[in-house]
Amino acid sequence: MRATNRMSVPSLELKAGRDRSLRRRHPWVFSGAIEKVRGAPKSGDTVQVRASDGKFLAWAAYSPASQIRARVWSFDEDQPPGEGLFAERISAALELRRALIPTRATNALRLIHGESDGLPGFVADSYAGVLVVQVLSAGCERWRDALLGIVHEKSGCSAIYERSDTEARELEGLTPRSGRLAGSMPDGPVRIVENGIEYEVDVIAGQKTGFYLDQRDNRSRVQRVAEGREALNCFSYTGGFALAAISGGARSVLSIDSSGAALECGQRNLALNRFDAKRAQWLEADVFDALRKLRSDGRQFDLIVLDPPKFAPTPKDTERAARGYKDINLNALRLLRRGGLLATFSCSGGVSRELFRKIVAGAAADAGASLVLRAQLDAAPDHPLLMEFPEGEYLKGFLLERR
Ligand code: SAH
Repeated sequence: MRATNRMSVPSLELKAGRDRSLRRRHPWVFSGAIEKVRGAPKSGDTVQVRASDGKFLAWAAYSPASQIRARVWSFDEDQPPGEGLFAERISAALELRRALIPTRATNALRLIHGESDGLPGFVADSYAGVLVVQVLSAGCERWRDALLGIVHEKSGCSAIYERSDTEARELEGLTPRSGRLAGSMPDGPVRIVENGIEYEVDVIAGQKTGFYLDQRDNRSRVQRVAEGREALNCFSYTGGFALAAISGGARSVLSIDSSGAALECGQRNLALNRFDAKRAQWLEADVFDALRKLRSDGRQFDLIVLDPPKFAPTPKDTERAARGYKDINLNALRLLRRGGLLATFSCSGGVSRELFRKIVAGAAADAGASLVLRAQLDAAPDHPLLMEFPEGEYLKGFLLERR
């Protein structure tokens, strides 16, 4: 965009005093902070955000359907959105992954992680050369061709598949969208290798973009502590933690999930790695019920993983979510032997690490268990965390040992 036509760019003028978070480089403008919309921006249009005194704060994408009324592209007046900015952001994101994640660790990576990589609402995961993208904001939808073209070229991936079928897209007033965008897809699932373990990933119909890449390092940690243990893997999906535990020498692993398709994939993954099928059991059930049943059956374990789905997508669900976390952590601790390990997670944006820690401490108190904190756990480094964007810290966990 040339300086000459900037005057015609629509703008959002903030209420007095509501410029603070933008000055701290937080990338969201909430509807309640806006005093006036100048011009007639449509969904996805580029707007300038200005303070009440007219000072430039940011370039942003307008999203009239969402409470997050605008998402910042850039805090620099000389850097409006466009191919130049996107190319720079995408290169920086790829460079960060190259620097932080050794290629021998995996061939499945999150290359672009939305706000945390300066591209709000854009996600790109690479699974053994197949790029799976999510275009989740009005601004990214507007610029989709540029974004997809640049990430396709710079990632070196052969095929691109779109999985913009999440609720986040609906909140932006966009309809779900998925399908092949470029290249040829493999027949059947994509095969990836993570920490020496092979997994089938169904990028077309699997959850998220096919695999929970954010748990990579935590699966590796479970692999390292599993030796000789009898393990219980709750919310197993396609068996990520189960295979990690078995390859780490667990005696047995019982995996529970409500999705039969995910469990079947877990069994195929076990066979793919030629692990002894007798060491793994798979149970299609609701974890809340299954934990109670295991207790009434007198079962005990010495390694338990709790990796539930988001119970609280937003802060308004926090209380109900807290009850859910308390319940599963309490009932899991009742099954944990002394000396046993609990790896417990929350991926709820609406539950802070502090709150999650209090919930788990409360569950331990009710179970009469003393727990040593062996490690704080978080998302793998291809899900970077920006200090100015605490909302990015959605995944938190603890590795605890029962005394
Ligand atoms: N640990 C997995 C990811 C877990 S995702 C990995 O490393 O790959 C959460 C899983 O919980 C999903 O597979 C979903 O099917 C399952 N799930 C959701 N609610 C459930 C419930 N009440 N009981 C059992 N499984 C449930």
